[in-house]
Amino acid sequence: MVVKEIKAKSILRKHKRIDSWFISQYGMNFYRGCKHNCVYCDGRSEGYYVEGEFGEDVWVKVNAIELLRKELDPRRKRTPLKPCFIMLGGGVGDSYQPIEEKYKLSRKALQLLHNFNLPVSILTKSTLIERDIDIIKKINERKRAIVSFSFSSVDEKISSIFEPGVPPPRKRLETLHLFKNEGIACGMFLMPVIPFITDTPTVMERTIRKAKEIDLDFIIFAGMTLKDGRQKNYFLDTLKENYPHLIPEYSNIYKKDIWGGPVSNYQESIHKTFNSISKKYKIPRRIPAHLFDDILSENDLVRVILEHLEYLLKLEGKESSYRWAANSIAKLTEPLSNMKKDLRRINGVGPTTERIILEILETGTSSYYEKLLTG
Ligand code: SF4
Repeated sequence: MVVKEIKAKSILRKHKRIDSWFISQYGMNFYRGCKHNCVYCDGRSEGYYVEGEFGEDVWVKVNAIELLRKELDPRRKRTPLKPCFIMLGGGVGDSYQPIEEKYKLSRKALQLLHNFNLPVSILTKSTLIERDIDIIKKINERKRAIVSFSFSSVDEKISSIFEPGVPPPRKRLETLHLFKNEGIACGMFLMPVIPFITDTPTVMERTIRKAKEIDLDFIIFAGMTLKDGRQKNYFLDTLKENYPHLIPEYSNIYKKDIWGGPVSNYQESIHKTFNSISKKYKIPRRIPAHLFDDILSENDLVRVILEHLEYLLKLEGKESSYRWAANSIAKLTEPLSNMKKDLRRINGVGPTTERIILEILETGTSSYYEKLLTG
């Protein structure tokens, strides 16, 4: 294993707008490369330019905390940060992978975020996060913290093949349970489900049932991408070794796609399976509004709920124009509460969307949305 200390030029990544998965517009990565070495990890694909041997070598941004302190300081900013969660995790290296034990960059970043009074959302696969429960509790008491773990399933054997450097699912669930018992909102990112291995109704149901048993606040679901090049080659080598009979099935669903996505009829079928099982267990399929209605601006709250609505209807196989309305709202500079009488002039807003927006402005949520959220 090679560990290389590097100096980053900046640390806070800013997205175009607050996304509806994490309710966050800002994220950060302290590590490039990931010792967890998940076989399906798309951090391995050439497009991310991760140097060294992925899964073995890790580049550490040793000046991350110094940079973050400057980048968060409101006195140094022309435009203040948008109110939303600050995201730790995702990208090309888990923030709690083993090297974090030595560098403690995630811990120090959490301390800073707490000092700046910011809400935090963390996504990891590592039980090392338990070390920081003290700071996460403080953040949660003052603003809010959400802790999420990603899973491809809760099957220990499958996980040992495809997530060789990650604590087993049983341990991850225990950690989530621990955070839940401390009053912290917790979720499962059921992603990626591995085609023909963890996407079957039986395996998916076992996973979702476990999430329900520990009363997780939400599950967010997605399939697996396989981009041509390092990511696909590495994955197929493991598949050949462990599930050789599935190789032809994979050729059928992974054709030429710039993002590495599977064909649409496969996508539809796994979303259908997820929809019916998650409805059976009544688990929200997006982060529920009560976890962010006091954090976002009113326009962002409306926009995110409309995007959630679009997704939830899509799960039911229905088309809607909520995303169109959400995109129009994203461009507004005036608060929606000043435009209550003119909502219908916003592109994509018809009588139903108008009613939903007025209800969100009044109550912080929409009863239609709440119903769809758990099915
Ligand atoms: S934990 Fe995440 S970043 Fe690390 S190898 Fe697995 S999928 Fe990639």
